[in-house]
Amino acid sequence: MRILISGGAGFVGSHLAERLLGHGHDVIAVDNYFTGSKRNIEHLLGNPRFELIRHDVTFPLYVEVDAIYNLASPASPVHYQHDPVQTTKTNVMGAINMLGLAKRLRVPILQASTSEVYGDPEVHPQPEEYWGKVNPIGPRACYDEAKRVAETLFFDYYRQHGLDIRVARIFNTYGPRMAADDGRVVSNFIVQALRGGPLTIYGDGSQTRSFCYVDDLVSGLIALMENSSNEPGPVNLGNPGEFTMLELASLVVEMTGSSSVLEHRDLPADDPKQRQPNIEKAKKVLGWEPKVALREGLSTTISYFQSQLA
Ligand code: NAD
Ligand code: UDP
Ligand code: UDP
Repeated sequence: MRILISGGAGFVGSHLAERLLGHGHDVIAVDNYFTGSKRNIEHLLGNPRFELIRHDVTFPLYVEVDAIYNLASPASPVHYQHDPVQTTKTNVMGAINMLGLAKRLRVPILQASTSEVYGDPEVHPQPEEYWGKVNPIGPRACYDEAKRVAETLFFDYYRQHGLDIRVARIFNTYGPRMAADDGRVVSNFIVQALRGGPLTIYGDGSQTRSFCYVDDLVSGLIALMENSSNEPGPVNLGNPGEFTMLELASLVVEMTGSSSVLEHRDLPADDPKQRQPNIEKAKKVLGWEPKVALREGLSTTISYFQSQLA
């Protein structure tokens, strides 16, 4: 199959491209390099089954493919809040264009949605049935609300046009090829620890997240796309292991052998207090669950950043 990945030069997109090529598919990566980088996929550029197109998904795209993974969107709060209007445009207009493409070609399309659709949740852990608690006018809204509209669009193309859709709600994912300046917590803590600077804890550090290693996520995305029961989702994909940011910081300090200290900063507005996926649906429908424990995934990620910063 020839498979299109929008956001294919990003962190998750580059791992997905690599895996799909390994499965014998042709891959077309589409990216405008807003947060991604050619460096993430430079090892694939010599592969005749891999093609890279510089393109912004807010504009129409006419190509011929057999399946689409729609990943184009900045994912780090620092980056998606840098140009919030563009974030909404990418997620809404980008979704419309990718859905229009899928509709013309009558091919399946997967949406990289997010646990952010649950906002600052009142239900814990979060099952797919929970509708979420999102501030529509806060600084995170450009991402949260745009991802929610994208889900609406996916389900309306499904109901109105009979499109074959797959919606994955991705929970915090980490691993090699996150950008050193990405701004998300795992890469921040590792880079800060390796440089010997203070680890920046936002707020008191008691807020929680559940961290999924990128290889596990990629397996889940492919399992959802290739699922023979045509499950449209939404399906939560994440690792239920839940940690406070203080726990994560001390684990990173221990594993890097760093002498870094912790430094508290203001908690950003609307920062969710707790987050943990309920993955019963993914287990039941996809036969998927994550395999890589946090300590194991951090070890690989730390080695990656060591080689990058050397
Ligand atoms: P990333 O920032 O590394 O990758 C996103 C990619 O999309 C980048 O290569 C970027 O250049 C590209 N992009 C952005 N705007 C674009 C546009 N207008 N046109 C074309 N390309 C564009 O982030 P990631 O972690 O790899 O995230 C990939 C997807 O998964 C995103 O949609 C994100 O919302 C979703 N997601 C990720 C996580 C996570 O923890 N990694 C969690 C939930 C959802
Ligand atoms: N589109 C695209 N590539 C295609 C087909 C459509 O980029 O191969 C875009 C085009 O910009 C269109 C949008 O997808 O406006 C939505 O397509 P759809 O067919 O749903 O609606 P239209 O706007 O054409 O009525
Ligand atoms: N965070 C932190 N220090 C950092 C970066 C983030 O304490 O240097 C916190 C942030 O406030 C949030 C959590 O870590 O509570 C996860 O943040 P991230 O930006 O990785 O993703 P989010 O899940 O908030 O989208």
